[in-house]
Amino acid sequence: MTRSTPAACVIGWPVEHSRSPLIHNYWLRACGVPGEYRREAVPPDQFRDFLRSLAARGYVGANLIFPHKEAALAWSEPDDRARAVGAANTLWFDGVLRATNTDVEGFLDNLDACVPDWDANDGTALVLGAGGAARAVVYALLERGMSRIVVINRTPQRAQAIQQWFGSRVSISAWEERDHWLAEARLLVNATKLGMPGQPELVLDVTRLPADAAVADLVYVPLVTPLLRAAMARNLRTADGLGMLLRQAVPQFQLWFRKKPEITKELRSLLEQDLSVPQPRSQE
Ligand code: NAP
Repeated sequence: MTRSTPAACVIGWPVEHSRSPLIHNYWLRACGVPGEYRREAVPPDQFRDFLRSLAARGYVGANLIFPHKEAALAWSEPDDRARAVGAANTLWFDGVLRATNTDVEGFLDNLDACVPDWDANDGTALVLGAGGAARAVVYALLERGMSRIVVINRTPQRAQAIQQWFGSRVSISAWEERDHWLAEARLLVNATKLGMPGQPELVLDVTRLPADAAVADLVYVPLVTPLLRAAMARNLRTADGLGMLLRQAVPQFQLWFRKKPEITKELRSLLEQDLSVPQPRSQE
């Protein structure tokens, strides 16, 4: 790999679990781009210096995962969307270091593909979690016109921060009340880490959801989470986290390498194979 070969990376702490290299290196090969995509483990106290050296390291851009999504806004030029979400997952150079948030379209595109007739104007959405991913989901649902979103998080202060950020169409409730809200939810989104390896299971009485509700889980390890399994057992419509991961990566690749990549069956099956190998890793 020469110094002029375009490269991008995923920056996180930890980062070794990230499946993004599999996706972007597949697309680099498929599109015939002589580039490279790497993992960069960067602790929070070194994040700013790392960004300052990003171009010198040969990077045309980067993917951000925990815990850098919110901090990135201070060290880049965020676009309107990243500003509105309050978090960025993508950096790229355009004279200056710019930031955006492709989790928004990743979530919506996947939901549209998996549950084509879901309707933002129809009822309440219940979002579990209040981290960077939940922010992108709430922003996406508001953009689509969802009239009522209830955010439920273990730490109430983070849910309150989301409510204050996004305003009156968002309300909050206590973590212990989550089962109570299910009967009203036309859309349930898990944006917590619960259900991932090394994390407790998400305990939820899915039988309380209406028969026409849809369930989206952002967790993609395992591919079929206990939440999705329980929803499928009830014949509810579901959207999995891997579909979102693939879709949020498409605009990233376009920003970095100027080609539109394709989500092929081969790529999805490569990821499914990778995810089916049991490994005690977390995910982005
Ligand atoms: P984050 O900022 O660290 O937020 C984590 C969330 O999980 C917080 O709401 C946290 O609640 C909650 N949580 C963690 N442990 C919990 C527990 N034991 N009980 C109850 N709640 C708990 O992470 P993030 O970036 O928002 O990511 C959230 C999830 O989305 C992760 O699983 C991530 O892999 C996934 N994700 C997927 C995609 C995709 O493309 N599929 C994209 C982005 C993120 P507290 O505030 O109380 O700590």
